[in-house]
Amino acid sequence: MRSHLIKPELGKAYPLIDYGKGIYLYDATGKRYVDGCSGAVSANIGHGITEIIEKMAEQANRVSFAYRAQFTSEPAEALAAKLAEWAPDRLNWSFFVNSGSEATETAQKMAIQYWQEKGFARKTRIISRWMSYHGITQGALSMSGHVLRRKRFVPILNDYPAVSAPYPYRRPAGMSLEEYAVSCANELEQALLRIGPEHVAAFIAEPVIGAAGGAVVPPDGYFQRIREICDQYDILLIADEVMTGLGRTGKKFAVEHWGIHPDLIALGKGMGAGYTPIAAVLASDDIVGTIAAGSGVIMGGHTYSANPQSTATALAVLQYMEQHDLVSQAAANGRYLLERLQQLAAKYPLIGEARGLGLLTGLEFVKNRPTKEPFALSLGIGQRVLEAAFRRGLLIYPAFGGLDGMAGDAVIVAPPLIITPEQIDEMIGLLDAAIAEVQEQVNAGVLA
Ligand code: PMP
Repeated sequence: MRSHLIKPELGKAYPLIDYGKGIYLYDATGKRYVDGCSGAVSANIGHGITEIIEKMAEQANRVSFAYRAQFTSEPAEALAAKLAEWAPDRLNWSFFVNSGSEATETAQKMAIQYWQEKGFARKTRIISRWMSYHGITQGALSMSGHVLRRKRFVPILNDYPAVSAPYPYRRPAGMSLEEYAVSCANELEQALLRIGPEHVAAFIAEPVIGAAGGAVVPPDGYFQRIREICDQYDILLIADEVMTGLGRTGKKFAVEHWGIHPDLIALGKGMGAGYTPIAAVLASDDIVGTIAAGSGVIMGGHTYSANPQSTATALAVLQYMEQHDLVSQAAANGRYLLERLQQLAAKYPLIGEARGLGLLTGLEFVKNRPTKEPFALSLGIGQRVLEAAFRRGLLIYPAFGGLDGMAGDAVIVAPPLIITPEQIDEMIGLLDAAIAEVQEQVNAGVLA
């Protein structure tokens, strides 16, 4: 039958999904897949959870949609209250959107509006990092330091990436992690002095780098120094927690690992946990208070922002996470997963590093482990591992191209937070076999 659907790769045949239950997905032929990456690191509580589905039906039976310019709703109010309870101090306000890209782009606009309301209309520029991903819409892609995804659209993008992100695995030889943390953070200060802080509204960063690097965790001290610099030069700090937020890294928000408070947080993915498209910007009392005392209107929003159906679903997801203590479970099971990945790294020379935080973990592949020389991007080693895993019924997530082949040929392993240690063992078994297949090809010289 002829397809009319534009899929990610035109011309490729994709299996037809049938249903999902827990950490498993089943296609129409009955083949079972371990969802080792929660889809796009989004199906955080697993598939087919009855309690969520019941609450969705309940809301649909009352009202699915009421326009936010005409009504507020119980679920939207309750979700914003729940997020304020979960969020770091002062981040007491939620603005709902529908995707991570919309969330980061809205955070950018709120930062600019904040400075305008305070009388600093020239503070319009955002500084971001290379090796980052903040989304695919024009504003979000402008902030994204993801070389491969930018390439085609550079002529229409703003030049926002200006500093490098800490990448401990590839730090300069002889440099301690402490020195490296400070030296990377100080790049922000240098960029501010070059551009002029009077032109800069905000700095945006992912607490743990996802799609552009493969679960790259910054060294301790980095974000503390970043916060200091933002305060010193009067620029806002936006944490892009679209991938890391809401328990994924073993804390409610990844920034808690370093005890810092951003001014704005972008959320997405795990918020709707695959049950509904929803995302959010969390904003501080200062930002919302300033805008309220100024024009009084946030210039942003989308048709489906804060709709009752999606907010009720996200609220059910957060309640489910609380009831099942999934954040602490992610911390404990994340430690076990990383241990198991490190065992794989010891077994296969192809793996340069196993890393991660909580249940956001990654493997980086290298041609030469002692020198850390990467494979040519054209060899698609990460992609080969991904496909070998897929054939065996294991889903993992790509994280290549962030630095356009200079480094970072990695995959992300990020199963639903409900995964058990036994299921982690099952997942590692499949991953082991997939990597063995690619390692054999490398050893045989067919990929040289
Ligand atoms: N920020 C981060 C950190 C992400 O990982 C992603 C998605 N991979 C986005 C933003 C964009 O989210 P979306 O695809 O929902 O627009």
